[in-house]
Amino acid sequence: MDFHYTAEEEAFREEVRAFIAEHNIPEDEHEDPDALEGWHQALIAKKWIGFSWPKEAGGGGGSLIEQFILKEEMSEARAPALGSDFMGLTWVGPALINHGTEEQKQRWLPDLLNCRSIWCTGYSEPDSGSDLASLKTRAVREGDEYIVTGQKIWTTLAHKAQWIFMLVRTESADRYGGITCVLIDMKSPGIEVNPIPNLVGDHSFNQVFFNEVRVPVANRLGDEGQGWRVVMGALANERTGISESTTMVQQLDRLKDLARRATRGGRPALEDPEVRRQIARFDCRISAMRLNGMRHLTHQLKGELPGTETSVNKWLRGPLEIEMHDLALGLLGPEAVEPGDWQRTSLVFHGTVIGGGSPNIQRNIIGERILGLPKD
Ligand SMILES: Cc1cc2nc3c(=O)[nH]c(=O)nc-3n(C[C@H](O)[C@H](O)[C@H](O)COP(=O)(O)OP(=O)(O)OC[C@H]3O[C@@H](n4cnc5c(N)ncnc54)[C@H](O)[C@@H]3O)c2cc1C
Repeated sequence: MDFHYTAEEEAFREEVRAFIAEHNIPEDEHEDPDALEGWHQALIAKKWIGFSWPKEAGGGGGSLIEQFILKEEMSEARAPALGSDFMGLTWVGPALINHGTEEQKQRWLPDLLNCRSIWCTGYSEPDSGSDLASLKTRAVREGDEYIVTGQKIWTTLAHKAQWIFMLVRTESADRYGGITCVLIDMKSPGIEVNPIPNLVGDHSFNQVFFNEVRVPVANRLGDEGQGWRVVMGALANERTGISESTTMVQQLDRLKDLARRATRGGRPALEDPEVRRQIARFDCRISAMRLNGMRHLTHQLKGELPGTETSVNKWLRGPLEIEMHDLALGLLGPEAVEPGDWQRTSLVFHGTVIGGGSPNIQRNIIGERILGLPKD
């Protein structure tokens, strides 16, 4: 790994800093949609949404290192995510670039890059989560269409999305080879979306029913039976996105702020040696995640697609979230039973740990496919 940046890369970092200094970063992206829209338009004009996508695909054609610098600087400035569609930009777009036909790229990528579409993801079913290859939603071909029938669950944003990136079974004979990826218009007749409230009463995920939904064969991504290949790349991108260390750096900053305000024995908790030790340990683990992220980046710079190693950071994030929330709630003391940010995230962070594959599944991947241990 080479930790040095070239003069061009340093110049790019300065360009990002200058852009941030010149533009108003929306303070609360949910409360001020106009400010967010203005921010997005400025990013679109710079081609910084989909910045590392190839120019032929409408992206910025930036290098992966520049993309890393861009995200690092934006995170440092506490800017909102680059673009409005996390799933679309993190895995649907890259899957379209890698597996889509020219027509499919023209059809879906521009809206993604211009913040005009929202995608959701239909993998999980009531009996198929970790064991995704057991999925049962069927797609039966009739001329130029597939007739899709089945049920998906935990489908984040299905109530807002225009499109679903979805796995269906086109054949039952082969567990993996009978799986196909299709892109379905959420307004198609026969789709019903039912909300599932989470522990704090928010609505982010859903059950989605497909009752003989007609999907043009032209909406199939990759060949029939190639869905598993398409989705393995998408899942690696999802795991990388979820476990970017920048999010954890921001969370650690919040924890340090809390430790400054909270008291232990009449003094700021941040002066307590045990609290300091715990925070220092979190800092080291986040640095390890950042270095792992750079290791993935190095592989990608050599032309390799993100693969099994993305499970390492995804797995590291789980215990870190648990321990950071334990410390935060401890620092809050009796206040921990009142409503508040840490109280709220302590009830919902488990979603990030489970979504994209539970910690046990990441352990299996690391054990079997990276360390070469016998199969579970
Ligand atoms: C916030 C959130 C958002 C989500 N969004 C989406 C979405 O948009 N689209 C989508 O398709 N899905 C989504 N999911 C679903 C997610 O992918 C699944 O919850 C996850 O893959 C686990 O599947 P499951 O819930 O069926 O649990 P199960 O697979 O039933 O697992 C239950 C437990 O058994 C353990 N386990 C299972 N198999 C093994 C094994 N072989 N070895 C060891 N332990 C094992 C698991 O680790 C877990 O602890 C989301 C989940 C969450 C929490």
